[in-house]
Amino acid sequence: MAEEQKYVLAIDQGTTSSRAIVFDHSGQIVSTGQMEHEQIFPRAGWVEHNPKEIWTNVREVVGLALTRANITHRNIAAVGITNQRETTVVWDKTTGEPVYNAIVWQDTRTDKIVEELGGRKGQDKYKKKVGLPLATYFSGPKVKWILDNVDGARQKAEAGNLMFGNTDAWVLWNMTGGVDGGVHVTDVTNASRTMLMDLETLSWDEDIAEDMGIPMSMLPEIRSSSEVYGHGREGGFVPGVPIAGILGDQQAATFGQACFEVGMAKNTYGTGNFMLLNTGTEPVPSKSGLLTTVCYKIGDAPAVYALEGSIAITGALVQWLRDNLGLIKSAPEIEDLAKTVEDNGGAYFVPAFSGLFAPYWKSDARGALVGLTRYVNKGHIARAALEATAFQTREVNDAMKIDSGVELTELKVDGGMVANEALMQFQADILGVDVVRPKVAETTALGAAYAAGIAVGYWSGEQDVIDNWAEDKRWTPKMDEAERERTYRLWKKAVTRTFDWVD
Ligand code: ADP
Repeated sequence: MAEEQKYVLAIDQGTTSSRAIVFDHSGQIVSTGQMEHEQIFPRAGWVEHNPKEIWTNVREVVGLALTRANITHRNIAAVGITNQRETTVVWDKTTGEPVYNAIVWQDTRTDKIVEELGGRKGQDKYKKKVGLPLATYFSGPKVKWILDNVDGARQKAEAGNLMFGNTDAWVLWNMTGGVDGGVHVTDVTNASRTMLMDLETLSWDEDIAEDMGIPMSMLPEIRSSSEVYGHGREGGFVPGVPIAGILGDQQAATFGQACFEVGMAKNTYGTGNFMLLNTGTEPVPSKSGLLTTVCYKIGDAPAVYALEGSIAITGALVQWLRDNLGLIKSAPEIEDLAKTVEDNGGAYFVPAFSGLFAPYWKSDARGALVGLTRYVNKGHIARAALEATAFQTREVNDAMKIDSGVELTELKVDGGMVANEALMQFQADILGVDVVRPKVAETTALGAAYAAGIAVGYWSGEQDVIDNWAEDKRWTPKMDEAERERTYRLWKKAVTRTFDWVD
């Protein structure tokens, strides 16, 4: 049912901004709307968003995208949602009001909770069931924090009046009617990041929820990533339009990059970096500090799993150099500054601002800039900041090799930082494999659009995604092996300098 006159709308509720993108049947972008939202840092290590601002912005950006495409909701065959994962919203279902700001995935306030939950069994207590180590990153402990710390929240939750969701569920509930019958649903990929879902059964694990003191009534229903969950509310911005796809942002990018075969991987360079490797229909446990996660589930077809290497801070380090140090005025300027020098001048910058994620999972690590001499200037620092992204990716890639036995032959990349050619070349150099950028770099939104479009028959299936994927640019390794290993060894040494920093 290829209806050429129709389009699919993706809502990408990201960490720094919300975007709405209209795609046509060939997977090309027709129009975009985008708005940043406030990053709230109430204390060191805390990161919050205002869920109401996010919802307002989502409505706004959809309006912008439809206007710019010169279409109305009648031209939209389906809506797909993709979102920053783990970020936790708890709201009152009788009023529609959040009981607290959204606690963002980067927030480390749950470090004590996480330690207590682990107890004598430690970080891997729930890993077999949920594929994740106990870490501040995931949603479950964030929900516990809200119930423990917000006045009256636990009573309301126990009375069945509170709902939990990541921002996918928050947006979906509001879009489908909110207090007037909104649908409280999430998809398997988002659920797999809460620490509350059993990876095999794809349902909530009551024992873990009980350990964390989270009433089951708060949890959304878990559904596939591609099916009709509900329709836009009457009087809303897409009245009657089926909302038919949900994927966490990294899984959406994996889908949009057409990584449908076992052994295919993509790496997204945004606020943080996230590499996902398709491991097929069986979850593969990690021994090397990676996460086992659901990659996607299309309707009734079996779920497909992935190994994931999550890095908390990559593009966010560029933002930090811009906003906290004023070293550059805009993110792209870092490339010019880095090009004023030949190499890093001996400087290594480990941005463990939210502790270290994969493959270390050390909540008590903090950032370090090492190897400094009087020779080092701001060009070297800019270069060290970019190199940090590539080195962290190499560490994750090494872990993937060990866990899966798959040797990557090339890496598909996307995200805001892949505009940076110097970084992409250095990435190819440090990995020793080709780095490939697709023509449509908005793979996250694209993946959500495909999931929604497939559910309503706008696209026939994965083959359409494969057919529409096209290469834009390829970087080939140029660095010699000895230099690659020398600089990587120094990086590894620099990382050890960040360990055990928090008292
Ligand atoms: P997210 O989806 O996580 O919000 P994006 O994919 O939009 O992130 O990427 C934005 C990130 O990329 C920001 O952290 C920004 O600092 C970084 N960035 C954007 N352009 C460049 C560039 N040319 N060079 C380096 N970093 C960049």
